[in-house]
Amino acid sequence: MNILVVEDERNLADAIVHIIEGDAQHADAVYDGRAGLRAALSGAYDAVVMDIMLPGMDGNEIVHEMRRQGVSVPVLMLTARTSLDDKVKGLDAGADDYMTKPFEAPELLARLRALTRRRGDVLIDEVTFADVKLDLSTHDLSCRDAVVHLSGKEFEVMSILMTSSARVVSKQDLLSRVWADSEASENSVEAYVSFLRKKLAHIGSKVQITTLRMLGYRLEVLAD
Ligand code: CA
Repeated sequence: MNILVVEDERNLADAIVHIIEGDAQHADAVYDGRAGLRAALSGAYDAVVMDIMLPGMDGNEIVHEMRRQGVSVPVLMLTARTSLDDKVKGLDAGADDYMTKPFEAPELLARLRALTRRRGDVLIDEVTFADVKLDLSTHDLSCRDAVVHLSGKEFEVMSILMTSSARVVSKQDLLSRVWADSEASENSVEAYVSFLRKKLAHIGSKVQITTLRMLGYRLEVLAD
């Protein structure tokens, strides 16, 4: 395993590298947000341990940008803060797990093992949720032998929903992550969710995009 550590407190960054290397894995540290993003996008790492408060670009922005560019490397967020709000923001941005500082070495290693085990030892290029699979390079959504191609925006919305597992994703969040640079409104989100529902039905998946009034959307699996 090759692990990237993004943490501006050098002593802590170096301590984390030392812990990981003591577990017979390789780790590199970078100390600011922009260098962190470049390294995270390089394709050289199997997992990222990342602080939230960083100079240049914060941890949530980095994860958001990684996910936007289709990089699915698992991210463990570190923070000194313990508020639920920070946790929710980090997970919404696309982080996979969250750990509050200070922590003990065995906890860090256990969480990294869990994250990398979930993804396997090879870089994955697809995400799955129940009976559907989304290919991150071809943008094909499949269920068993049925395949349908997703347009750019459909792909982005679906990949956000799938990587959020069963968590609720708000319309506003989808709007800001998928339509960041445009004048789109919540109607666009609704329209794309409706396209995706049709495509899920078309491939015969049991996965449904459920609307939670005032909250947003969540993937659910229809019972038999
Ligand atoms: Ca920091």
